[in-house]
Amino acid sequence: MLRRQIVKIETIRHSLSHILAYAVQGLYAGVKFGIGPAIDSGFYYDFDLPHSINPDDLPKIERKMKELIKKDIKFRKKIVSKAEAKKIFKDQPYKLELINKLAEARPPQIKISIYESGDFVDLCKGPHIKSTKEINPDAFKLTKIAGAYWKGDEKNPMLTRIYGVAFGTKKELEKYFKIQKEAEKRDHRVLGQKLELFMWDQEIGAGLPLWLPKGAVLRHIIEDYLYEELISNGYQWVVTPHIANLNLWKTSGHWNLYRENMYSPIKIDEEEYMLKPMNCPFHVKIYNSKIRSYKDLPIRYAELGTVYRYEKSGVLHGLTRVRGFTQDDAHIICTPEQLSDELAGNLKHGLEILKTFGFKEFDIYLSTRPEKYAGTINGWEKATKTLKYVLNKLKLKYKTDDGGGVFYGPKIDIKIKDSLGREWQCTTIQFDFNLPEKFKMCYVDAKGKKREPYMIHRALLGSMERFIGVLLEHYAGALPLWLAPVQVWIIPLGSSHKKFAQQVKKELSSFRVEVKDENETVSKRVREAELQKIPYILVVGDKEMKSNSVRLRSKNKDLGMMKLEKFLEKVKREIEFKKNNISTNYE
Ligand SMILES: [Zn+2]
Ligand SMILES: [Zn+2]
Repeated sequence: MLRRQIVKIETIRHSLSHILAYAVQGLYAGVKFGIGPAIDSGFYYDFDLPHSINPDDLPKIERKMKELIKKDIKFRKKIVSKAEAKKIFKDQPYKLELINKLAEARPPQIKISIYESGDFVDLCKGPHIKSTKEINPDAFKLTKIAGAYWKGDEKNPMLTRIYGVAFGTKKELEKYFKIQKEAEKRDHRVLGQKLELFMWDQEIGAGLPLWLPKGAVLRHIIEDYLYEELISNGYQWVVTPHIANLNLWKTSGHWNLYRENMYSPIKIDEEEYMLKPMNCPFHVKIYNSKIRSYKDLPIRYAELGTVYRYEKSGVLHGLTRVRGFTQDDAHIICTPEQLSDELAGNLKHGLEILKTFGFKEFDIYLSTRPEKYAGTINGWEKATKTLKYVLNKLKLKYKTDDGGGVFYGPKIDIKIKDSLGREWQCTTIQFDFNLPEKFKMCYVDAKGKKREPYMIHRALLGSMERFIGVLLEHYAGALPLWLAPVQVWIIPLGSSHKKFAQQVKKELSSFRVEVKDENETVSKRVREAELQKIPYILVVGDKEMKSNSVRLRSKNKDLGMMKLEKFLEKVKREIEFKKNNISTNYE
């Protein structure tokens, strides 16, 4: 029992994939094996099966796995030569392909590690558990079957992938399913369609969302809020084009180091142009358009810059993984002396903004120098030290990811936790030792000498697309009043109340209000408002008309009659304070 707690859950998950393969081997003679790694929350294994299976077959496989687990099967490692490995896996074409690939990459006398567990042998470098005793048979479950191309390449055969989830305890497994169920209800792809926020069209292309009128309103609210926040915090707004000459990307180094994420060049006259994957070089050009003095610094440029990056079609996911997106991008250019104040101000302000959107928990990561890097070790050390100093000064807890920085500088990433406790990478604050040098950025210091400034990239929300996806999942679509594309529905009881409904709308003209006077029953209209997650529903009839009041409903609750002026006051105040009534029906 003790050992179960010490063994890493990833090791248990991966070992379970072997047991899954072992069970499948016993049930389906002639099966060919692909690979079986541990993944988030569980594991999978890819099989080339003699005949197709469906989800009804999973319980049978699971039972077989449990039988095997109870047998206390040991995992034994063996080191063999290439020839021996080829003999062991002579009937396994996918394994043979892997062995040949391994042999190609390493010298001919290469030794290959294989693992035996009972009658199942796998090509694997481990690690595994010592014995199936370490697996809690009540804390795993096979979840689904999916098709997957061998090595993810559509030119290869389609294999059958069986997924499972696994935890240390049954309680954790149950919690996982509970959260899964809740997450399904909050899937922003479903909500986006239901609430008419955005859509996709095959003819337009994968990963390229269309924002519908209500979605565009939501974006506009967020963008306006950001604009005001940044301008009042000393940022300057800029706008730059979507494409630029290939030469720019050669100078910046993107063509050399980032090409796989960029789309093919576009020919204009005799020159080649690229869709921008980042906004940085444009901002650098704006900085370089004048001679800058130390007195001009810090300079903070902000832009809602739409960038295009290549993503494999298989990884595209709703708004959170797209091919064209708008970053809330900013670049801060400052002197070395200003660095810590700039970072501190940026972090503090950034967290305040995220909190306004209703996020309360964050995980902060500091990533340091990787093996390949631009700039000097001294510069990296100084910058990393400053980042740590600032995090400590602001009393922010963080984890260090040693060697996890990007090649051009150390960075701070902030992952926000949503109402289900899921982490989403949004904010990133990155140092850049590369661009200032590549573009010969400089400023004149107090002694009249030319010096290279420090440059920081920062995206706070990440991208509008991703952030809105996260917001929708966090709130299960029931956005707080200040963000709701439609804030109030007014429902007249009968046709004699339509005029009063219009009057109320006029009184509320500074808000986003709609009158719903269709020939439907009141309860049907109320139900529709609730499905549309409208924050406030005002029902008006005779009584309300006489007393210039409204009958108020919010979040499926009847809040009774309220004087119109009082409601107006309430809504105003709520928006002013951007009060977040997080609706969590999940505890
Ligand atoms: Zn393994
Ligand atoms: Zn940048």
